[in-house]
Amino acid sequence: MVPVTGKPLLEVRNLQKSYGDYKALTGLSLELQEGEIISVLGPSGCGKSTLLHLVAGLSRPDGGEILLHGQTIATAAKMLPPEKRGINMVFQDYALWPHLNVFENVAYGLKEKRMPAQQMKDKVAGALALLQLEGFERRLPPQLSGGQQQRVAIARALVTEPRLMLLDEPLSNLDMRLRVEMRTEMSVLFRRLRMSVFHVTHDPEEAFAMADRLLLMRSGAIDQFDTPFACYHKPASRQAASLLGAINVLKGQFAGTAEDPAIACSAGRISGILCEPGGRLQVNGPAELRFRPEALALLQENSDIAGERDRKTNILEARVVHCVFEGTRWRTLAETARGERLYLFSEDYVETDKDIRMVLPSHAAYLYGL
Ligand code: ADP
Repeated sequence: MVPVTGKPLLEVRNLQKSYGDYKALTGLSLELQEGEIISVLGPSGCGKSTLLHLVAGLSRPDGGEILLHGQTIATAAKMLPPEKRGINMVFQDYALWPHLNVFENVAYGLKEKRMPAQQMKDKVAGALALLQLEGFERRLPPQLSGGQQQRVAIARALVTEPRLMLLDEPLSNLDMRLRVEMRTEMSVLFRRLRMSVFHVTHDPEEAFAMADRLLLMRSGAIDQFDTPFACYHKPASRQAASLLGAINVLKGQFAGTAEDPAIACSAGRISGILCEPGGRLQVNGPAELRFRPEALALLQENSDIAGERDRKTNILEARVVHCVFEGTRWRTLAETARGERLYLFSEDYVETDKDIRMVLPSHAAYLYGL
């Protein structure tokens, strides 16, 4: 849920940043509401860290403006120093002081603020309890696991009660099991504390686990800024679709109308949905259909195709190339007659070289102009 409080906590207006001739941010605007968690997701090099560092005050914009609670904190001409912004950041590599123990690391920001000793002790104890780190006070960072170090980094960022928390790929140094655990824990914790969070990741699952809204970035600009549900079900570009798992691609020509969009491709006329705002699709113009492996359902050999077609679905034909058990399901790679590769999931093993038919519902087939 996106809380509606009127004034946004963070406003970014037409933000620009270049490194030499290279435009890392090309005029980006967004708003983050109080208590909201925004996950910034995009491929490596799209400008995520650049955006985060500008908000943190670690670098200066070339143009545009950043405001916090309506107050300008950064323009090309004016910079509020990072420590005056009320923003804390959790880094990918934890950035703990290796020579300070857990208590001292977490207390660091409070000490800087000259907080009285007893109050500081209570605050640190509270933060350590929140992150389940009681009993670790005297340990040095090298004596902790990666997961524990990351908890300390989060406790340290929380304890000064920042107005905004920035997370820069916070879980990418952890192993898979721990990543899954921690992303749920963080999501629960930040919501419980009503923290405003700006979170950067290249991992779609992490973004989905955390975000109220997703900011999909591409080449220094916003591709889509919407709820995870909306981004998932209507990716605004073929790059967004690909990022969010729609890895199956059929190329062809647009063969429909706005009311009945479809593509003419090697598999025949396949109907889909229009996702691109201000769509570039033109009748007979080059087009691409994208869909997820999960969207495809294997048809049993004796099933009634006519019935399936009635239900506004498409039928695709292909030959199985490979089928592998993934743990909970089988992942099958199949090839159309024209050699286009399609992935699908099935409950059972499917034999190599077998000809199969698959159902693809129109609502899960995304159409884009090329
Ligand atoms: P992301 O976090 O999405 O991977 P970055 O914001 O780190 O992307 O980088 C965006 C682009 O800017 C990349 O092409 C990167 O190589 C370039 N870049 C980032 N920092 C610098 C820098 N200090 N000097 C030159 N180029 C940089």
